[in-house]
Amino acid sequence: MDSGWYLQGKEDENFEADYARYIGTKYVVGCANGLDALIWIFRAYVEMGVMQPGDEVIVPANTYIASILAISENGLKPILVEPSIKTYQIDDSKIEAAITERTKAVLIVHLYGQCAYTDKISELCKKYNLKLVEDNAQAHGCKFNGRKTGSLGDAAGHSFYPGKNLGAFGDAGAVTTDDEELAKVVRTVANYGSQKKYIFKYCGRNSRLDEIQAAVLDVKLKRLDEDIALRKKVAKYYIEHITNPDIVTPIVKDWNAHVFHIFTIRCKKRDELQKYLTDNGVQTIIHYPIPPHKQKCYKEWNKLSFPITEQIHEEELSLPMSPVMTEEEAKTVVNLLNRWEN
Ligand SMILES: *Cc1c(COP(=O)(O)O)cnc(C)c1O
Repeated sequence: MDSGWYLQGKEDENFEADYARYIGTKYVVGCANGLDALIWIFRAYVEMGVMQPGDEVIVPANTYIASILAISENGLKPILVEPSIKTYQIDDSKIEAAITERTKAVLIVHLYGQCAYTDKISELCKKYNLKLVEDNAQAHGCKFNGRKTGSLGDAAGHSFYPGKNLGAFGDAGAVTTDDEELAKVVRTVANYGSQKKYIFKYCGRNSRLDEIQAAVLDVKLKRLDEDIALRKKVAKYYIEHITNPDIVTPIVKDWNAHVFHIFTIRCKKRDELQKYLTDNGVQTIIHYPIPPHKQKCYKEWNKLSFPITEQIHEEELSLPMSPVMTEEEAKTVVNLLNRWEN
């Protein structure tokens, strides 16, 4: 505040450099929020001539709406693919069948904080010459064989919405990539399409990262790994102690590949379970109550059927999860769950 410099200054620069080091990409471009970060990636590909309106982008059917909006916002066509019921991540065995001549990219989403990337997805993208884009809004700090999510594909969108694992004091987002041209175009379209003051190369928008948010993020980034470790402690406690056979806890193959932005359980009588927990003083959330293809904003999809996606939306419940949660609090939740009879 004393500097009197509010946009595109030292704080942005410092955060972008530190976040690039943390994620392991050459470039980080800060922007206004996570949805914009994803929008700018596809917008840049369109401006670069890599994609054209009408081209198709494969995306998991059970993702948060933002991943899909980022595609349709650019005149591209989202092609929904079912997730695996075990991991809730895009089912890599179903991607190839969805590829057509117009497919230009696969947008994977590290949903709930678990890595969605697989070698198979990467091989398919190479085989069909597709861009691999990551939605890393829920998975900062998540690793695949030692590499961070957000550095595994051609570009990634990150959200720093306050509730995310790395959250600002308001809205903020970023794009990470090793592609110099992409980084440059993203920075330009997010700043009115301008590289030089009052000269406009693209019809851009105002989607810059505030200095104050960058400063906050740079401080909080130093604690991110510690926070993730605390989340994992809660997750481990839940997984080891929830014994009620009517409740399905997440499958964690690799503890480095999950940062537990959200701790999901599934239960056939989800709504009853949620009411029981609420009545006993435990707040839970559903991620998410209505799948994208059943939303009014995509009414052309309302009659489509994605049974696994629909099952997840009917059975999913997110338990309390945060780095400041105590073992005592986790124990209260577990005891309630284990005592629940459906
Ligand atoms: C939060 C989120 C976004 C969007 O981020 P905002 O900063 O809220 O715009 C995108 N994708 C996923 C999966 C998210 O959870």
